[in-house]
Amino acid sequence: MADNIQLNEDQITKAAWSLKELRPAYGAILDFYKQIFIVQEDSKDKIQIDPIQISDEMLLIKANEGFPLVNISEFGIDAKASKMLLIKICSIIKESSGDMASSARAILEAIDAEEFDLDSLFFALLGEDDSIFEKTAKKHAIKKGDLAFIVYNSIKPSLSLGAEQLSAYLDKNKPWGKGYCPICGSPPGLSMFQGEGERFLLCAFCWHKWSSRRLYCPFCDNTDTKTLNYFFSEDEKEYRVDLCNKCKKYIKTIDTRKTERIIYPPLEHVATLHLDIKAKEMEFKSGIDFAL
Ligand SMILES: [Zn+2]
Ligand SMILES: [Zn+2]
Repeated sequence: MADNIQLNEDQITKAAWSLKELRPAYGAILDFYKQIFIVQEDSKDKIQIDPIQISDEMLLIKANEGFPLVNISEFGIDAKASKMLLIKICSIIKESSGDMASSARAILEAIDAEEFDLDSLFFALLGEDDSIFEKTAKKHAIKKGDLAFIVYNSIKPSLSLGAEQLSAYLDKNKPWGKGYCPICGSPPGLSMFQGEGERFLLCAFCWHKWSSRRLYCPFCDNTDTKTLNYFFSEDEKEYRVDLCNKCKKYIKTIDTRKTERIIYPPLEHVATLHLDIKAKEMEFKSGIDFAL
């Protein structure tokens, strides 16, 4: 199931505004991310990447073995569009009063001085090559986590476009049934209830959305109702946090049937950090080990 989560500038602005009304404490965070998400969606309309080709034979092997369609290193990236987006994201961060402002400034200065090899950073992120991030961060006095956040967010439109192209290879009539992304094999970062109460999982890396069993821990395949639990707050009926007592991991769930708001999952994710804090206080771990 790959229906699009792409919204335009107006819709993202509205989604952020209605979330802000509900949770004013998130005002600054929502204003910040709203700008990032708008430039990302805008970039996605302009990027060009060649679709990845998978032979019928390979497709059959992957389906039979339960392998994802690609390894994350195989994603194509529009390097030119990603560079333009990175500059826009750094400019937004630089203007914010957040912790990342000094890193964004240092990145923009290094780009101006032509001292920055962006292409190698884009591909290092896909190749999970930490050493290039380590070296670049050290050389330009940038926090490594900030650099990874900015680079990931700059290639995110290429990743989600690539995932959309690849989703054509998935068998629509055969539920995937696994807890990892059928496109890239990454764990889910969010879960959603939609329509008649069907459950979907959203990939934390390429944002592909796939259909899932309702009572299920995607991180350890647990289906035992005695060890699966959740909590929610009466004030926020559209959210719940699913907990697995077997692997002690949690995933946040948005129940779109319980709200009339426009739902843009990346915004919902950043406006629910209090749920992450609560789950961690209860000694559950996030199922993903990288920032979205
Ligand atoms: Zn994925
Ligand atoms: Zn589990």
